Amino acid sequence: MPKLKLITFGCQANDLDSERITGLLLREGFTLTEQEEEADLILLNTCAIREKAEHKVYSRLGSFQALKRQRAGLKIGVCGCVAQQEGQALLNRFPYLDFVVGPGQLTAIPPLLAGATRGVETARAPGYSYPVNAPVQRRSGIRAWVSIMEGCDRFCTFCVVPFTRGRERSRPAQDIIEEIRGLKRQGYREVTLLGQTVNSYGSKLTPPISFVELLRHIDQLVGEYMRIRFTSPHPSDVTVELADAIAELPSLCEQIHLPVQSGSDRILHRMKRGYNRDEYLEKVALLRARAPEIAITTDIIVGFPGETEEDFRATLDLMQEVGFDSAFIFKYSPRPHTEAERMPDQLPEEVQGRWLEQALALLNRLSLERNRSYIGRTVEVLVNLEEAKGDSGRHTGRTRQNKIVHFAGEGVADGSLASVAITGATPLYLQGELVC
Ligand code: SF4
Repeated sequence: MPKLKLITFGCQANDLDSERITGLLLREGFTLTEQEEEADLILLNTCAIREKAEHKVYSRLGSFQALKRQRAGLKIGVCGCVAQQEGQALLNRFPYLDFVVGPGQLTAIPPLLAGATRGVETARAPGYSYPVNAPVQRRSGIRAWVSIMEGCDRFCTFCVVPFTRGRERSRPAQDIIEEIRGLKRQGYREVTLLGQTVNSYGSKLTPPISFVELLRHIDQLVGEYMRIRFTSPHPSDVTVELADAIAELPSLCEQIHLPVQSGSDRILHRMKRGYNRDEYLEKVALLRARAPEIAITTDIIVGFPGETEEDFRATLDLMQEVGFDSAFIFKYSPRPHTEAERMPDQLPEEVQGRWLEQALALLNRLSLERNRSYIGRTVEVLVNLEEAKGDSGRHTGRTRQNKIVHFAGEGVADGSLASVAITGATPLYLQGELVC
């Protein structure tokens, strides 16, 4: 049987695409391998969100040249956002590459493999791309990603997503419900709904349906049996109805990843984020008023073109004011086709690096403070032994707020809900003892 080595870079959307690619190729008779040297097919599922991620792909591709010479019949393919962005240019640059497939054309992989010539498949069909009956080989038996939309219409000035994943396309609600019904039947305990701006779901469907309506349908189906999360919402589309749903629906977890990107109005305007600092803080206040237990995490970019010391201070100040539970903080990097790439006032790496360190140090303090507030409380943990770090006798799971908990105790089953008394905290996780 031919062997597949699949290498995944990037976000949860790519993780799910890799599960889809695996499903498609297992159906074609492939088995999986971790060893590049014994693979008959090496696939890179790539990310273009930052320059560094893209360079990693090129250096990995470069390392396959010798392997291709040594191993007769070896095929190498690139999928994902770099594939969409570069297309034919990738085949020109790497003569030993066999095919290039964008994220919306995954089902083209088997026919491309069967073909005798090198190929590129990046043409995007209208509508949601992945057929409802196409396979998904999930890595976890407990937590599943479910895509509800693709692409984005917002064109923030730093972001390549509208170019690599295309314009916003929502998946029919019935398909989503059927997929989640199947996951429930198979015993999955948690679903994360995925989309680039997940809470603008449904406005272009006929008839239109709102994100909150979809959440309420899903809640009716799964009740307390499953936990539902979603990522990533856009702050402008956080509504009173969404805050109420988080407060009311038993399945919907008290957690939101709400990308802010900057605390400076001037920079938010240059980023074309569509909200200002006060509006973002109003959304946070709304969510906390309706769902006081909610954990809030975010994305932040430091060193955006033209950002001053004062703008950066405004970001630190906003981080303190919100008291984020956690954050992904990155140095700005220019991306092809974007408006920010053409802005004249790009900042030196040294300034970006210094600001990144300061922001991470503050985040460390804030996360520790938030996590320490759980000490002395008993929380519900969904046990997920895949996340355990191999320390026998210690278990791992997540709270409804998506906090990782390492805890001691006997007789806990994978995928069960456990009550855990929290006894300690670090910026990254909680520690505790099993209560029952
Ligand atoms: S809303 Fe998100 S995905 Fe869309 S352009 Fe802005 S940063 Fe990119």
